[in-house]
Amino acid sequence: MGAPQLSSLAYFQHLHGAYAQVLRERPGQPALIEGLLSLAFGSFDANVAVQSEGLPEVDCGRGCATCCTLRVSATAPEVFLMARFIRAVDPGLQARGVDLPGQIAQADARTQGLSESERVKARQRCPFIAQGVCVVYQVRPLACRGLASYDKRACAQAASGRSDSIPYSEPHMNVRSLVQNAMQSALRDAQLPWGSYELNQSLTLALRDASLEARWLAGEDVLAAARLEEVSESEMAQTFDAIKQAH
Ligand code: SF4
Repeated sequence: MGAPQLSSLAYFQHLHGAYAQVLRERPGQPALIEGLLSLAFGSFDANVAVQSEGLPEVDCGRGCATCCTLRVSATAPEVFLMARFIRAVDPGLQARGVDLPGQIAQADARTQGLSESERVKARQRCPFIAQGVCVVYQVRPLACRGLASYDKRACAQAASGRSDSIPYSEPHMNVRSLVQNAMQSALRDAQLPWGSYELNQSLTLALRDASLEARWLAGEDVLAAARLEEVSESEMAQTFDAIKQAH
């Protein structure tokens, strides 16, 4: 999809239609997950580039994981794509003495049930950081893509508790929200579970039981134990319906 010069409302509606088409073309198929996320990640990059024209470059990159102590949320397609990636790289990592599924389960045991602010205070590093780098960077969720800073020194100061002010990029945050919400709305219309899940817990579930992906594709909310409910799903559903009907 090309980079749209659209209002937020029109962009949401346009993306919703594109997700709906992928859902119609690949119902219940494993390829649905790649289809949705290729659309989501491609659209995110293209639209952030358009919205960031004239703004400074962000100071983030693959080798920086300073902010990676925050709680991460993800939709079910993102969780299952990451689970596939981790299964694929696991034999090579295990041969080098790295037990990534074990690290995720340990991180989950330390963080399960903590609120967003409790997670900030706990300063638990994301289990995907190895030698300062995110090892799942290519499949990281929209939540990670949407948090970008113009000043990594400010991030380091915030991470060490010396400041609480980080100059985040608004285009990244706004586009992440639109891209993710349009996908959630299309999943809801297709009667697939469309919630947002805590990453460590949902991945631990997905990695322990490879049948969960097929059951999610059949409409079962198999990640429900990890669902984040700070924003009520009924309020989100009302907003999605209002946006779809707006002209
Ligand atoms: S998944 Fe990667 S980018 Fe996201 S918080 Fe973890 S280390 Fe950081």
